[in-house]
Amino acid sequence: MTVSNLYPTGPLRALDAAHHLHPFSDMKALNAEGSRIIVRAKGCFLEDSDGNRILDGMAGLWCVNIGHGRPEIAEAVQAQMAELAYYNTFFKTTHPPAIRLAELLAELSPPQFKHVFFTGSGSESNDTVLRLVRTYWAKLGKPDKKVIIARRNAYHGSTVAGASLGGMGPMHAQGGLPIPGIHHIAQPYWFDEGGELSPEEFGLVAARELEVAIEQLGEGNVAAFIAEPIQGAGGVIIPPSTYWPEVARICKEREILLVADEVICGFGRTGRWFGSEFVGIEPDLMPVAKGLSSGYLPIGGVLVGEKVASLMVAGEFGDFNHGYTYSGHPVACAAAIANLRIIRDEGLVERVANDIGPYLQKKWLALGDHPLVGEARMVGLIGALELVPAKPERRRFPDPGKVGTICRDFSFANGLVMRAVKDTMIISPPLVLNHEEADELVRLTEKTLDDTYAALKADGRM
Ligand code: PMP
Repeated sequence: MTVSNLYPTGPLRALDAAHHLHPFSDMKALNAEGSRIIVRAKGCFLEDSDGNRILDGMAGLWCVNIGHGRPEIAEAVQAQMAELAYYNTFFKTTHPPAIRLAELLAELSPPQFKHVFFTGSGSESNDTVLRLVRTYWAKLGKPDKKVIIARRNAYHGSTVAGASLGGMGPMHAQGGLPIPGIHHIAQPYWFDEGGELSPEEFGLVAARELEVAIEQLGEGNVAAFIAEPIQGAGGVIIPPSTYWPEVARICKEREILLVADEVICGFGRTGRWFGSEFVGIEPDLMPVAKGLSSGYLPIGGVLVGEKVASLMVAGEFGDFNHGYTYSGHPVACAAAIANLRIIRDEGLVERVANDIGPYLQKKWLALGDHPLVGEARMVGLIGALELVPAKPERRRFPDPGKVGTICRDFSFANGLVMRAVKDTMIISPPLVLNHEEADELVRLTEKTLDDTYAALKADGRM
């Protein structure tokens, strides 16, 4: 039987349109075009229901760090399913997969982390963060320390707390967000917001907004600052070198907790196990998900540093009245353990730091010479291209998002998944990408830029 018989695109698309509501989608527009149906994947490549082979430049949704289709994960999952498919971790119980995964995370994470609270996703991890940090200060007799400072254009998830911590206007516009007690400051996005300042000057200015906010809100009212070491969904925003050291200084001098959202940066993406290590900070809490299981099963967690965990284990919290049915789900934990062993034993983090990272970065940064590209940036295996109407100014197209969408559609047609955040093209491929695949990724990106440029010329936009 051929693939097209197994997965007939037309009927499947019609059923999808009839019954399936997609995340972050205008269903009328989506159904008019029809969803792309992905039927299988191996390594860095996807295959759709029409038999097209597509290079997965986004590792799914920034998560398939070990690449698709690893049999070790399927075997670990099958074995755990047969042994104990589900039990909870409430009410004085636990099970070996949760214990082993917690041990492994303590081993792989920076020294201040010896404890983890399991969740089902990155969003749930950030909801957990919000309740943890407020409870922490309340238990220390400082119940007014409630405000969490976050950043505009940050992404911290789609639940009520996650979306409130995030700084996405279109998300806040739906459902009456953000909830009270969250304060947003600048993002370190030099390309868009740096004006005439050098990146280094701008990094300091953006960081010092934290200091100003703490002063305005009153240190006695601020619980924590949360940020992604490198913003992902906001457009792969790599902060200027001055930004994180200044934030670290401000946090050290103040009595507030530092939360690094490692949902994208964690587990090797930057060439270090955690993005915090890459940018040189020592956070108190680290929400994680995605690369924890490489997306093979849904699982997340909050790595809880000793400052907070020591209070919890000393009984100061009493019961922490929080948890999910799937906190530490045994099969998801088994998948995560098998995944972390692959990342560790195959040296994938070191590979990103010393081999495939620098290899791809060199070629990616050279795309900055293309007439459509105002800036090319990449660290580890996470990168972006800013599409601009004219060089060398950091100027945007008049209708933000239009050109990005054209470029993304060409990219798919050319056999590469690249994502568009307005007119910023982003990639985050699996960490197992080999040199040949990196060459192909760059070749397809170049072709996509050329196609986009030609289309814009043809309709007079350039
Ligand atoms: N934090 C960050 C930094 C993310 O990128 C994401 C997801 N893209 C989340 C949190 C939310 O994770 P999830 O979609 O698993 O809820």
